[in-house]
Amino acid sequence: MYLKKVEIRGFKSFADKIEVDFKEGITAIVGPNGSGKSNIADAIRWALGEQSIKTLRGSKMEDVIFSGTDNRKPLGYAEVNIIFDNKDEFIPIDYQEVAITRRVFRSGESEYYLNKNPCRLKDIKELFMDTGVGKDGYSIIGQGKVDEILSTKPEDRRIIFEEAAGIVKYKSKKEEAKKKLEKTQDNLIRLKDIIAELE
Ligand code: ATP
Repeated sequence: MYLKKVEIRGFKSFADKIEVDFKEGITAIVGPNGSGKSNIADAIRWALGEQSIKTLRGSKMEDVIFSGTDNRKPLGYAEVNIIFDNKDEFIPIDYQEVAITRRVFRSGESEYYLNKNPCRLKDIKELFMDTGVGKDGYSIIGQGKVDEILSTKPEDRRIIFEEAAGIVKYKSKKEEAKKKLEKTQDNLIRLKDIIAELE
């Protein structure tokens, strides 16, 4: 599995649609200061579900939408489409190509698509869990991330190793099951109370 292509329209400095093909062997994006290199990394992270605007170097979610220039009007929405080659089926889905699309409007409305079908952020998160690719995955190391990893608390650092070991999915499922169990136990207590009242 590898990231094959990124398509960006209306995201940050990219008003017009751009396509970046990551052909085999490409390991870096170079360009003058302020030309949008980091915006491409932000776009990938955003499409994978990044919700923290601080991580995306803005102050409100609307900041990811092209805000206009002296001779160009601001746009109403931003869209990023990232395409993975999945011939090795590393991403657990029955498709040789996996396309994730995220779109956001100035109204704040947000949409996600998986291979052009509308989906929830939860679906994308689950799909990429334990692959190292998700928004918290270790495949995107932003500026300052290395320092952060080294200076972070051992418990936080452990999360990175857990993702690499492939156990995050099971931990998350365990948490979900625990919540369901708690809810069921609460319901049982309530039921017992009702039965006691009726007897
Ligand atoms: P450096 O090498 O200095 O880190 P870079 O190539 O990584 O630069 P970016 O940080 O990706 O550059 O791009 C910064 C540019 O993006 C700035 O000129 C900024 O004005 C522009 N920009 C960011 N958000 C928006 C937006 N919403 N609308 C229009 N332009 C934006």
